[in-house]
Amino acid sequence: MLPENGRTSEDLLAEISLLRRHDLQVRGGKVTAYIYDTGRPEVHDAAARAYFEMLEVNTLDPTAFPSAVAMERQVVGAVAGLLGGGPGTPGIFTSGGTESIMLAMKAARDARPVAGRPRVVVPVTAHPAFHKAAHYLGLEVAPVPVDPATFRAVPEAVAEAITPDTVLVVASAPSYPQGVVDPVADIAAIAAGRGVLCHVDACVGGWLLPWLAEAGASVPPFDLTVPGVTSISCDLHKFGYAPKGASVVLFSDPALRRAAYFASAAWPGYTVINATVQSSKSAGPLGGAWATLNALGREGYLALARDTLTATRRLAEGIGAIPGLRVLGEPEASLVAFAGDDVDVFVLSDEARKLGWFLQPQLSYAGIPANLHVTVTGVTLAGVEAMLEVIAASAEAARAAGPPRVPEGLAEILATLDLDAIDDATFTELAASVGIDLGGEGQPEMAVVNAVLDALPAPAREAILTRFLSVIYS
Ligand SMILES: *Cc1c(COP(=O)(O)O)cnc(C)c1O
Repeated sequence: MLPENGRTSEDLLAEISLLRRHDLQVRGGKVTAYIYDTGRPEVHDAAARAYFEMLEVNTLDPTAFPSAVAMERQVVGAVAGLLGGGPGTPGIFTSGGTESIMLAMKAARDARPVAGRPRVVVPVTAHPAFHKAAHYLGLEVAPVPVDPATFRAVPEAVAEAITPDTVLVVASAPSYPQGVVDPVADIAAIAAGRGVLCHVDACVGGWLLPWLAEAGASVPPFDLTVPGVTSISCDLHKFGYAPKGASVVLFSDPALRRAAYFASAAWPGYTVINATVQSSKSAGPLGGAWATLNALGREGYLALARDTLTATRRLAEGIGAIPGLRVLGEPEASLVAFAGDDVDVFVLSDEARKLGWFLQPQLSYAGIPANLHVTVTGVTLAGVEAMLEVIAASAEAARAAGPPRVPEGLAEILATLDLDAIDDATFTELAASVGIDLGGEGQPEMAVVNAVLDALPAPAREAILTRFLSVIYS
């Protein structure tokens, strides 16, 4: 695609808008995942300008660009202030929740070495970032069940799973799938009693729960003030409303943060000191996060939290009143998941998409039924009645349509298929033979895809998803 001669900026922007014609809308609150919109253009504008201003600053060498160090100290300080850390609480600004979790896991592995393969005790509702970090860092995940009615981690199960090789125990505040807060105080106390570190994944809730509490919600203790909590992650690119690429991980102790760092002088080039997984990286996201925090301020976050709380309560109540639908658990943050009794939720999701709304499908797992997930944000309130109407109408349509027609025997074939034995082209043909067009433009009907995946065990789902990714990037 490289042109012979350089193209103008107008020309490039025109092509970008063409490329984006099938994208989900990032404004307006009709996309209830991936996007966190304040509904305040001036805040977005401040973030974009600051991002642009810091774009070319490279945080690879903190001595070369002291601006980035000063900004990071302020941002980390703001998060520590909200999450029960005192002045000087050690933290790291990272590119996202996954990287924050990766660094907390590395710190746990390196801070207290064990004889065998280091183990991490992780409730089944915890984010896959823990599995990813374990995969990258050579750790073993010990999954523990959650309560089937409340979806919260069970402290006794956590206690049972701790072995002499366990380096870290995880709790979520809240866990993403059902938006409930694990019993952090109990789990952290168990970890501390066994001499094990405890990470709280507050990626989605860290910059939300304290404001919700201030707005009148009841929020159980989950932050650094809870005895036994040794690290906590908080994504600013979620309820901090910052542009993507912004998260913070805090540690209870400077020695733990040092265990997250990496330094190398083992080559004849410049000395490497990295706080994060990335080495050369733009300070743009840091500038964007710094500006967003300052542009909203306490008043802004509290106002957004009030709207978020009102919208969440209205949504949960409204969904509960739609025949055939039920909210899973009692969400404490602003994440609402609902399942269908005589309504196929995957079909419901496709129906809503036809009406311009995106509701995120979640596959059944560990005894938890398939469901749809809504992330309620500050802009949701203005459209909450419209959203409920769309959900009710889509549920009606889904009930009338019935479940998606999955070709007979397909799940069995896929579960036993040796994917390594077929190439991408064959995989594409296989998908086409059951009516799934992987090469097509625009938004595919996903109900059949989701129903097929839902019928498979997790390892088969993973193999197919990996292949899917390889095909769409080919
Ligand atoms: C989003 C999220 C993560 C991972 O964050 P990324 O920023 O997508 O890497 C981890 N844990 C929870 C609970 C989350 O919601």
